[in-house]
Amino acid sequence: MDKSILEEKLTLPISFPDQDLWSTIGNTPLIRLQRLTDGFAESVEIYGKAEWFNPGSSVKDRPAAAILSKALSNGLLKEDRVFLDSSSGNMGIAYATLGAPLGIRVHIAIPSNAGPERLTILRALGAELTLTDPLEGSEGARVVAAEMAAENPSLYYYANQYSNPANWQAHYTTTGPEILSQTNGRVTHFVAGLGTTGTLMGTGRYLREVLPDIRLVAVQPDGPIHGLEGLKHLPTSNVPEIYEPTLPDETIPVTTEQAYEMVRRLGKEEGLFVGISAAAAVVAALNLAKRIEEGVIVVILPDSGMKYLHQPIWDVK
Ligand code: PMP
Repeated sequence: MDKSILEEKLTLPISFPDQDLWSTIGNTPLIRLQRLTDGFAESVEIYGKAEWFNPGSSVKDRPAAAILSKALSNGLLKEDRVFLDSSSGNMGIAYATLGAPLGIRVHIAIPSNAGPERLTILRALGAELTLTDPLEGSEGARVVAAEMAAENPSLYYYANQYSNPANWQAHYTTTGPEILSQTNGRVTHFVAGLGTTGTLMGTGRYLREVLPDIRLVAVQPDGPIHGLEGLKHLPTSNVPEIYEPTLPDETIPVTTEQAYEMVRRLGKEEGLFVGISAAAAVVAALNLAKRIEEGVIVVILPDSGMKYLHQPIWDVK
C-alpha cells in the first residue's frame, strides 16, 4: 500500500454542515467481538461498527445527511418544498431527525406493516407519512413515492435513495475513512448487508482505492421471502441504480433463522443488542473468519434492536 495515499485519505474532510445535531453523525465506535470468536485463529479479529450511535440511531443518517445537504445546496428545498422519499424505516427516521431542526417538511412513503416502533418514531419526529400496501413491500413504497412526485413536481423534491449518488458518496467520505483510521489501515475484509447498497458501494470503493487487496463481502437474504429487514434479495428485486455488481468479491447468503439466532447470541455473549441485519452481517463475518488464517474483519452493524421489539425474536419470558 502506498503510504502517502493512506495519509491523504485519512485527512479527507468530512463535509457535513456544522449544525449541532448534524455534527454528531459518524465517528461511530468500532467494537471488537470478544466471545463469538472463541475457537477461531488468534490472528483473526472481528470488529463491529456500531451505527446506532448516530443521532437517528442507524447507519442511514450518513446518506440522509448527504442527500439533504445536496438538495439544500442545490436550492431544491426552497419555498417550503416538501422533501419526499420512500423508506422501510431507518432512512425515513434519518431524514426526519435531520430535517426537523432545519424546518424541512419530510414526507415518507412507507409500507403500512413497517412496524409500530418505526411508525411511532417517524410521527414523533414530525414526518408526514403515506402508508403503502404491505404486500408490495419497499418496492411498492418506492413506486408510490415516484408517482406522488410525478403528479406534483412543484410540491415535492423526490430524493430517491436507490439512485441518488449522494447515498454511496456519504459512505465514501465518512464510513470508509473512519474504518481505515480506526483500524490504523489494518482492515483486510469489509462486510456489509445490501439494501440500497449504498453502504457497501461507498465504503467499499473508498477502501478498495486505499487498500487494493481488501476483500469486500456483501450479505443478502438467502431467498426472496425473508425476515432480514433492511436487506434485499437482489436476484429477485429491482436492483438499485447505484449498485455495481463487480465491486464485491463475494456475496454470502444468510437465512432468517441464522440471523435470529445470532441476534440472541450477540445480546447474551457480546452485550450488543442489535437489529436483524446487523446479526445477518455477523453470521457472514463468522463464516468468513472460519475460512481465513489471519485478518481484520470489519462488519457494519446498521442499527440496534430497539425497532424490532414487537417481533418474537428474544426469548425473555
Ligand atoms: N440494515 C438496515 C436495518 C437498514 O435499514 C438498511 C438500509 N435499508 C440496511 C441494512 C442496508 O443499507 P444500505 O441501504 O446502505 O445497503
